Amino acid sequence: MTSYDVEAVRRDFPILQQLVHDQPLVYLDSAATTQKPRVVIDALSQYYLQDNSNVHRAAHALADRATTGFENARKRIAQFINSPKPEQIIWTRGTTESINLVAASYGRVALQPGDKILVSTLEHHSNIVPWQLIAAERGATVIPIPLDNRGDLDLDAYAALLDERVKIVAVNQVSNALGTVNPIKSIVQSAHAVGAKVLVDGAQAIAHFPVDVQDLNCDFYAFSGHKAFGPTGIGVLWGRESLLEQMPPYQGGGEMIESVSFSGTTFNQLPYKFEAGTPDIAGAIGMAAAIEYLGNLDRAAVQAHEAALLAECIERGEEMGLRRVASPRHAAGIYSFLLPGAHPSDVGTILDQQGVAVRTGHHCAQPLMAYLGVPGTVRASLSIYNNHEDIDRFFNAMAKVKKFLL
Ligand code: PMP
Repeated sequence: MTSYDVEAVRRDFPILQQLVHDQPLVYLDSAATTQKPRVVIDALSQYYLQDNSNVHRAAHALADRATTGFENARKRIAQFINSPKPEQIIWTRGTTESINLVAASYGRVALQPGDKILVSTLEHHSNIVPWQLIAAERGATVIPIPLDNRGDLDLDAYAALLDERVKIVAVNQVSNALGTVNPIKSIVQSAHAVGAKVLVDGAQAIAHFPVDVQDLNCDFYAFSGHKAFGPTGIGVLWGRESLLEQMPPYQGGGEMIESVSFSGTTFNQLPYKFEAGTPDIAGAIGMAAAIEYLGNLDRAAVQAHEAALLAECIERGEEMGLRRVASPRHAAGIYSFLLPGAHPSDVGTILDQQGVAVRTGHHCAQPLMAYLGVPGTVRASLSIYNNHEDIDRFFNAMAKVKKFLL
């Protein structure tokens, strides 16, 4: 184990200090949503207790404070992912909306009949379906990048799929179902060589390791506040400025306009062009507080800690006869498995009775489940606040599940 002080981190998360079904809560469902540290909860209540107002264009103190908090939050996120400018941070409802925005706006102008969009077989439905929708509208096709037998992207097959008809490559940085960490930099390099743009779904990456959009050299990066210790209902689309500039608005309404008349409407500058309507102001402030919290941790120590927990899961799972559904060469935070002879949802229910929270099913990745030939898996997902006792309780609970079900 590392010198990482996981007990101090656990104390920052009030929700973890509770019993579930009379047992200490073991929260192994952070890939679905992470828990929130007290600083985030405080930032939200502070905003509603003292500063609540609508942002921009107002002549009073509360509106000033709300606007400053909201725009500072944007700057904080920009720094965190090394965006050249804060204007490249577009607030959305989350990863799903960020991807839909790019598909609907960029996809509409970039795709011609016969064009291709490559997505990986590892994708969450939210990085498949928006592309299918725009592909149907534009006469383009969505083509899956296959996996190899370990659950990694097959990079030779990817290279073979790339040609000048490929306009967009959409891949996750970390798979929510298997934890596979994809080699984004080389994926981007090959895509750019044929003129394709790359959208990275960072929903699962952002909480596990530092992300630098300039280093990745991707064109779009999407993530959600709630998967990185922030509130639900808020997320970010980061985009390359030259592309965001040329993209048409996604939704129309207040805030996104420069002037409106019945003879023609002009649009606001970045980022507001893409932010129609009243935004989730508290959410943005809460997300920035979460990012601040995460940024203050020793990220290398967090990574080493989570890797040690994952290695323990893999080893103890093997000893117990659990079947890990894939073994990617590089994985982050996810242990996805089956208990041979038992249905995943039965495993999940009996774990819950022992206070252990996991997720079961297809994890919004049905094409991946079909590829693996399984109806679903049991997924234990790890985060900054999980400790060795959690893993111990999880495997003790699994021993009982085995006795009960087999
Ligand atoms: N992509 C991945 C890899 C995810 O794990 C998730 C959430 N499970 C999403 C996209 C969608 O995120 P959200 O529901 O926050 O929009």
